[in-house]
Amino acid sequence: MTAIHHPDPSSLMSYAAGSLPESIAMVIACHLSSCEHCRKAVSDAEDVGRTLLEQLEPVTMSDGARDNMLAMLDNVAPEPFQSSPVKAVGNVPAPLQPMLGEDLNKLHWRTMAPGMKQFIIPAPEGKLRLLKIAPGTSMPKHSHTGSELTLVLQGSYSDELGRFRAGDIADLDGDISHQPMVDTHEDCICLIATDAPLKFTGLIPRLLQPFFDL
Ligand SMILES: [Zn+2]
Repeated sequence: MTAIHHPDPSSLMSYAAGSLPESIAMVIACHLSSCEHCRKAVSDAEDVGRTLLEQLEPVTMSDGARDNMLAMLDNVAPEPFQSSPVKAVGNVPAPLQPMLGEDLNKLHWRTMAPGMKQFIIPAPEGKLRLLKIAPGTSMPKHSHTGSELTLVLQGSYSDELGRFRAGDIADLDGDISHQPMVDTHEDCICLIATDAPLKFTGLIPRLLQPFFDL
């Protein structure tokens, strides 16, 4: 499958620099596992970062500062998620398989609203969830207080920005208000990361938001 919609280049740069919240980085890692185009962009960004580092003038550090720096490096956490181009077995992207297994349909989905089920994935930073939306169902219209990154894993949806099919990613910030609607006869399953709660525009969805946990 070849994606039509990719992450924003600035998101790929931030991913390469390791500066994204882990929930957002996981969605990008899952997209990279099936998108050669973006894997190349990340690898190019890493090369640029490496070149910039090599061009830095060496500075002399005091013994104390050097000891502090070495102690700090010892405490740096390892890369949280793999982004290798592993061909996934089943319908779960390779980076998520250690946590979720291979079959999206075997997860314990929780019903949130008619036609809408959710599965929360524990993430150290930000929110990461899977949504399973029935054909003909639309999400309440909403905008964002932060970033929202959505990767379609199965089926497709359409919104104000176009049509998104398996492998496509929607990389949205707070300026965009949209209302995704499933547009085939198949359930649409999406992996969604947010770094802040969604902002619903209608009164009823706003009242229901605490129960939706969105
Ligand atoms: Zn891509």
